[in-house]
Amino acid sequence: MYFGIDLGTTNSLISVFENGQPRLISSKPMVPSVVALIDGALITGDAAKERLPTHPKDTVAAFKRAMGTDKTFKLGRQTHTAVDLSAMVLAHLKHLASSETGYDVSDVVISVPAYFNQLQRDAVRAAALAADLNPLRLINEPTAAAIAYGLQDIDEQGHILVFDLGGGTFDVSIIEVFEGVLEVKATSGDAFLGGEDFTKVLFEHLAQKHGIPTDDVVIKARLWDAAESLKQRLSTAHEAECDFVCDDRTESLSISRDTFSDIASNLVRRLRLPVERALYDAKLTSQQIDKVVLVGGATRMPLVRSQVSRMLGKLPEVGIDPDHVVALGAGIQAALTANDAALDDVVMTDVSAFSLGFSISRQFGNRYEHGFFEPVIERNTVIPASREHIFQTVELGQTEVHFELYQGEAPRVQDNIKLGAMKVKVPRNSKDYESIAVRLSYDTSGLLEVDTTVLSTQKTQSVTITDLTGGLSAREISARKKALQSLKVHPKDNEDNLALLARIERCYAMALAEDRNQLQNMLLTFQYALDRQNPSEIQSLQESLSEQLDQFETNYVR
Ligand code: ADP
Ligand code: MG
Repeated sequence: MYFGIDLGTTNSLISVFENGQPRLISSKPMVPSVVALIDGALITGDAAKERLPTHPKDTVAAFKRAMGTDKTFKLGRQTHTAVDLSAMVLAHLKHLASSETGYDVSDVVISVPAYFNQLQRDAVRAAALAADLNPLRLINEPTAAAIAYGLQDIDEQGHILVFDLGGGTFDVSIIEVFEGVLEVKATSGDAFLGGEDFTKVLFEHLAQKHGIPTDDVVIKARLWDAAESLKQRLSTAHEAECDFVCDDRTESLSISRDTFSDIASNLVRRLRLPVERALYDAKLTSQQIDKVVLVGGATRMPLVRSQVSRMLGKLPEVGIDPDHVVALGAGIQAALTANDAALDDVVMTDVSAFSLGFSISRQFGNRYEHGFFEPVIERNTVIPASREHIFQTVELGQTEVHFELYQGEAPRVQDNIKLGAMKVKVPRNSKDYESIAVRLSYDTSGLLEVDTTVLSTQKTQSVTITDLTGGLSAREISARKKALQSLKVHPKDNEDNLALLARIERCYAMALAEDRNQLQNMLLTFQYALDRQNPSEIQSLQESLSEQLDQFETNYVR
């Protein structure tokens, strides 16, 4: 039996995979991600959520947004971190699953927003450990959704775009399904956009329109509750209204879909960028998307659905309940991770959600500015991946180079996340700059290796960063490292690639003028691809070039 968890900002769910299928645990599977303090004891789930409007000082919600930060939450006199609070929700889910299946739930796969960085992912692992769970693996939420849909019609092929708008986060992923292989092509998102923001604009609109004071925490919490309920009712009705008692008067609050669309128009606009970025990274146009899958409660809003249709030119699929799909996918992933026989034919690949690279200095006129980010493995690279980059010293006679490894998309490293550092000695050279080849290798477990070679001396040095792996055992780590070795051969040195290059050159030798142009183009194209070190690009070129060469050789032999 394998278990998968969707640890949501708003609601959390646990699924179990058995008899070749995932299903949700418990008759009411959505557990509100809320923690409340009652008579000195902490509780979570529905009972805690009930107390949110009446006891706002003793209740916390939406703490997932603070994962990976030092922020603390006050509950009465107690203070807790987002990790503590998430651990309580996870322990609750563990308990639900254990009592229903009679199985001691320990190994789990937990989903996280694709855009969670390494610190946020570490926080999720820490919460799992604190809840006495063993996080086998974290999976990106939209990837989990795609697995759930992909498995349904695994024999179909094409591109799926997963559009996940939850309570606090927005994720977009593009996944290719092909002969039983699910390959994540690109992920993108906005870590600070979700259904809560739609509630917030409605809350502010109501407060202003009806002159409701929001500095009182209790009134504020009740108005929030009213806004949330009006928002949800607008998903099925064109207008919604409710009474609100405040300071001895009763206000009749009402909202129409049109007004809501107006006040939420900025939020709706923000949905566009991550979709465009994912399409761009996947090198696809919106017409090439075969299926659009909606995930997350906030995709129930008609204004979101029509924006999706407008952007992608097709109506979204609604086969699986948008609230359940991520948890089901996480359950499938748990079975995949454990190599369950039922899923023998399914292969999953994933991409790195972030760019990885080093801090470098750039020259402006005759002075140097430090702290620029130079990516080596770019975001949305299929992992495991291994890439090499040549760096140079900045000063003549420099004897040491300090490499600082960062993760992120910002041009300056100060805005990215530092993962580690290493020093490399280079020979003192007062005539020329020294070059260092740096190879970064990264796999799905989070294992990161840095190998450096000083080109003039061929001296090598390696550092393995394992604190991103979430506590893999020494044995697992050494197995992972072995698996990465084969990737570390530069594609330029790979025998098949060398053979293909030689074949193009041989054909060139026997070809005539106009064919020679074509062959030269083939040579350049292939060399560029080798430089970029993208395995899938290289493989597809190997195939297409070999075919062209076959054709060419038949013509010449004739
Ligand atoms: P998360 O993955 O962050 O836990 P969910 O997928 O459970 O979030 O979605 C929660 C969000 O969905 C909340 O902001 C909630 O207001 C919104 N939501 C749920 N049902 C509806 C509905 N019927 N109409 C509009 N929004 C809804
Ligand atoms: Mg979710």
